Amino acid sequence: MPPQPDMHSNIAIFGDNVTARNHPDWISQSDLGPAWRTNDNFNVRWDILCATQPEHRAEQLDYIEDVARKSPGVWLNSIHFAEHGHCICPRCKELHAKSGLSWYEWRRKEITDYMAQVSERVRDRAKKKFVIGVLPDPITNYERFGVDFDDLAPLTDEFLVVMFSKNYATPWYWEMLTRNFKKLFKDVPLNIALYVIGPGDDPRETPTTSELLTVSVRMARAGVDGILYLTDKAKQMQDFQKAAVAQVDVRERLKSYGGKQGQEVLDFVTSWEKVVE
Ligand SMILES: [Zn+2]
Repeated sequence: MPPQPDMHSNIAIFGDNVTARNHPDWISQSDLGPAWRTNDNFNVRWDILCATQPEHRAEQLDYIEDVARKSPGVWLNSIHFAEHGHCICPRCKELHAKSGLSWYEWRRKEITDYMAQVSERVRDRAKKKFVIGVLPDPITNYERFGVDFDDLAPLTDEFLVVMFSKNYATPWYWEMLTRNFKKLFKDVPLNIALYVIGPGDDPRETPTTSELLTVSVRMARAGVDGILYLTDKAKQMQDFQKAAVAQVDVRERLKSYGGKQGQEVLDFVTSWEKVVE
């Protein structure tokens, strides 16, 4: 989709089904098979390319800078190696051997160095806001994906953690993850993306409005700085806002949940009354 001048742009770098289809030899490799989304040895939701593929890296750098120039900012996803044990393609094996580093440290250096290049394009050249997205694993991002939060912190304006789920019925866990990331990210603002409805979803299998409001307030009291809600279409976002406004009892109950931060979320919902009129 073309970048919009009044909307931040989301770009997934290595999770790229179209490029994987066009260049099947670029797919990330492991002892448990390639990172096709059909490989159930891993939790891969897209076809994931090798994170050192030089042509893809170069093309993405130019693309990201171009998108940054045409929109207020760039939010990245899929910045890392596919999963644990990736990538053992001949190029990665050779790069690792030449580096003289341990396997984990070599992967970390590959991700950090590339993110430094991307950050330079967006922040220094295009002079736009830059947000790095990571997966919701506070402890083993390094071993699984080559991601080191302390390395990335100086390169990004804010972090985004995608916490998509088909339900948020146990908010205790989401609140805990929020506290974990808040601690690890220190002064870098934490944004969390929540799932309302995705492409082709049966609405009966998506989170309830009450769950979304509750988890939002509980993330707020745990320190989250921004919450993003995912829908496939703008109409679905309006429907969610309408449903949230209609949850008078839930909004009333949540007033006692989290002081000022929780109240900020509830004030946002109140402001939606105007949006959905
Ligand atoms: Zn590779």
